[in-house]
Amino acid sequence: MGIPISVLLLEDNVADAELAIRELRRAGFDPQWQRVETEADFLVALAVHPEVVLADYTLPQFDGLRALALVRERAPDTPFILISGSLGEEAAVAAIKQGATDFLLKDRMARLGTAVARALDEQRQRTAHKEHERKIARLMRIRAVIGGISSAMLRLRDRQKLLAEACRVAVIEGVFPVAWAIDLTDDSEALNVIAAHSADEQAGPRITQLMLGLPRSQRPSHRVVTERRPFVVNDLSVEPISGSLIAEIRSCGYRAFAALPLFVEGRVVAILKLMAGEQNFFDAEEIQLLEWMCADLSFALEAIEKAARLEHLAYFDSLTGLCNARLFQDRLNQFVQSARHDHGQVCVVVVDLKGFTLINEKWGRSLADEVLRQAGARFGQFVTEPFALGRIGADTFAAARPSDGEQVAMELRDEMFAALKHPFIINGQVVGISAQMGVALFPTDGSDGNAVFNNAEAALNLAKTSGESFAYFSAEMTERIALRRTLVEELSAALEHQQFLLHYQPRIDMVSGELIGAEALIRWQHPQRGLTPPLDFIRATEDSGLIVPLGAWVLEAVCAQQAAWRASHVPIVPVAVNISALQLENGKLLKTLRDALTTYALEARYLDLELTESAVVNNPIAATETLEALRKMGAGLALDDFGTGYSSLAHLRTFPFDSVKIDRSFVTDITINTGDAAIASAIIAMAHSLGLKVVAEGVETEGQFKYLRARDCDEMQGHYFSPAVDASAFEMLLRSGTRMPLPAPTPAGQQTLLIVDDEHGIRAALTRLLRPDGYRILCAASGDEGLELLALNDVQVIISDQRMPGMTGTAFLNTVRQLYPDALRIIFSGFTDVALLTEAVNRGAVYKLVVKPWNDELLREHIRDAFRTYRTARSAKIQ
Ligand code: C2E
Ligand code: CA
Ligand code: CA
Repeated sequence: MGIPISVLLLEDNVADAELAIRELRRAGFDPQWQRVETEADFLVALAVHPEVVLADYTLPQFDGLRALALVRERAPDTPFILISGSLGEEAAVAAIKQGATDFLLKDRMARLGTAVARALDEQRQRTAHKEHERKIARLMRIRAVIGGISSAMLRLRDRQKLLAEACRVAVIEGVFPVAWAIDLTDDSEALNVIAAHSADEQAGPRITQLMLGLPRSQRPSHRVVTERRPFVVNDLSVEPISGSLIAEIRSCGYRAFAALPLFVEGRVVAILKLMAGEQNFFDAEEIQLLEWMCADLSFALEAIEKAARLEHLAYFDSLTGLCNARLFQDRLNQFVQSARHDHGQVCVVVVDLKGFTLINEKWGRSLADEVLRQAGARFGQFVTEPFALGRIGADTFAAARPSDGEQVAMELRDEMFAALKHPFIINGQVVGISAQMGVALFPTDGSDGNAVFNNAEAALNLAKTSGESFAYFSAEMTERIALRRTLVEELSAALEHQQFLLHYQPRIDMVSGELIGAEALIRWQHPQRGLTPPLDFIRATEDSGLIVPLGAWVLEAVCAQQAAWRASHVPIVPVAVNISALQLENGKLLKTLRDALTTYALEARYLDLELTESAVVNNPIAATETLEALRKMGAGLALDDFGTGYSSLAHLRTFPFDSVKIDRSFVTDITINTGDAAIASAIIAMAHSLGLKVVAEGVETEGQFKYLRARDCDEMQGHYFSPAVDASAFEMLLRSGTRMPLPAPTPAGQQTLLIVDDEHGIRAALTRLLRPDGYRILCAASGDEGLELLALNDVQVIISDQRMPGMTGTAFLNTVRQLYPDALRIIFSGFTDVALLTEAVNRGAVYKLVVKPWNDELLREHIRDAFRTYRTARSAKIQ
């Protein structure tokens, strides 16, 4: 049997037709054929799509060229071979020009088979080629969409705007007739649908209306949310979504449909829906590209969410949700403002939790945090309206309330005490806590919000030193103020008598371990009290204005030191100097710096300046000018203590900084506190997106180092390498070319398992059971210890007991999920907790649940399976 082929023959001569068929058979075809003579018959036969048309050039009632024109009009790709008894070369060329596939003389019919085979082959290639072109065009459209969205991501910092822009780009660049985005974080039905549409302006809104009319469970978006993957309908004519909606969609000419999920931290937060005018538009490649696009969008949404969190951080305390110091001060100022207006009073109580450091040490960080959280909540319950309440320091809270006399201050104080009267119960432990308070009143104890607040703090210090449970700001305070005055006098004498000196803390490149810079930190060599740290006196120099000459001294001392080192051939590195807000405000900074550089013939690139956000924000105009000038001179500019103040990206963008220093307070707990880790990671990602380097301050452990390095932090300072040292010690470091030894990387491909259980026996039994399977096994006796090990090692699978003192297994694994989302988490526990744990599994915190006592073989299988799942997920991610 030959190759089946359907042939349409336009031929008046039966014998000629039969000859043609014979030739085709001889060439290996199995033709199914139809012979016609008239135009009418020809058109009917053409309608059933013959694979080849063979046409006689001259016919009594019709002619070959006319037939050719009809074929090219109705079936442009169908091979058309012209056959003639005799035809001049010119006519043949003209026929080919008009679109004939080939031309054959009747006395050369032996060639027919080859001609048909070649025509079919060419046609196949042409179709494939066209298909290819179409596909490329389509894919290019989607790439254009991806490009458009990437640029939107850099511009837009608002989720709704970003989603709207994504829809607009999909319609303009992607030529999708309609695109919708559904923001699932907003529950108000009608508002959360964002649409863009091309030609038919009414179609989008009409379909949106119909869609909203459907019960949730019937909407295509519902499937996307529950199945967490794209939902695609490639032929809307056979796969109806829902009755009235589909009718409308079809009437608009849409043929295919895709709905894609957008994720933030594993949650589906929005859905992007696209309509296409072609059937089968969404093939595998297209979907893959769209998924990339959605991954980009998801990333942008996540960045926006993190930025919002950073902004939130600027006003609220993340642990208790109360105001932070800044917002508290704002609220207090508002009370003072209206009190001024009504000749009223305002009282302020500052509360310090007694012995909190002990709780921290004795019970551990997570319990201590819980104490703070509960204390914050209690204050909120006990204090009566109107009030302002904030957590203004680690274990310091503050409350303020408008009042009409000292009586109200007492009430407020008593309410705060009452809040702590009953002990807290945390993880079954009873934790009692007491407090000390300082109280001050506006206007008696201060003429503005700031002054009253400072005096309430001063009163608290008085209570602390005297051991009383509370103290009013009062006459005794004057004495302290006098003391402060003496301090300032002493400081100014110290400046005159050269009692200050500088220590240098090395700054390290986290990738190479090289020493690439230092920070100059001031010390006071006090004749009686000895070497005094800046925290004891910098504030006083700032309040008194003494920081301006002192700061100038630091700048000059650093330049002098650098020049001296260079003269004795020390390979110097840039040294950073801390600049106070007052120095920037004072306007002499540039001149001081220029003079110092000239005096010591030092290039500005050996100097970095560190400024805090508040310093630049309080004097934006002076700051921009000065910073631009400094940058032109070639000095490096770092934004210091980032995360503690406004933490605004806008500031990073407007001022010409080279680097951002993540404040030590985020680094300290980075390996155990998911909030700190998330913020540090967000700061790093955003700084990088703005082209800035990131320096981590206060890195003390290998775990912190590894965690930060894994998140691409560029540089670090901290005791992990070295504290600030005196000039001669620093000189030795420079001379010896010291590098920081980098922690050894975990061998690639090694399978590492972490076992967390408070019972030694169980850890040992599990290790014995699983070691033969070739894993590297790490053991921890508590969640805290587990987090420590996770920071130090690449761990793929974690198995944790549920019941442990301190952190429970689920709490531990929940933290792990946020810090190391890729690691697979298995929990095991006795029967009693099964319901609770199943819920943890369902929430996604835990990958598997193993019930104690366990079956050895089953457990080994679970672990093996977990490593396999990890590998699969990992390789899917890489592709
Ligand atoms: P800063 O600018 O945040 O400087 C970093 C502080 O963290 C330094 O404290 C440093 O010794 C300390 N530190 C660095 N690594 C670690 C670590 O791993 N663990 C711990 N626990 N601490 C670490 P220092 O020297 O006491 O300085 C405190 C602050 O005083 C500085 O904070 C800065 O704001 C201010 N300061 C110091 N020198 C000057 C100066 O010359 N001018 C001005 N205006 N302020 C200065
Ligand atoms: Ca600094
Ligand atoms: Ca700092």
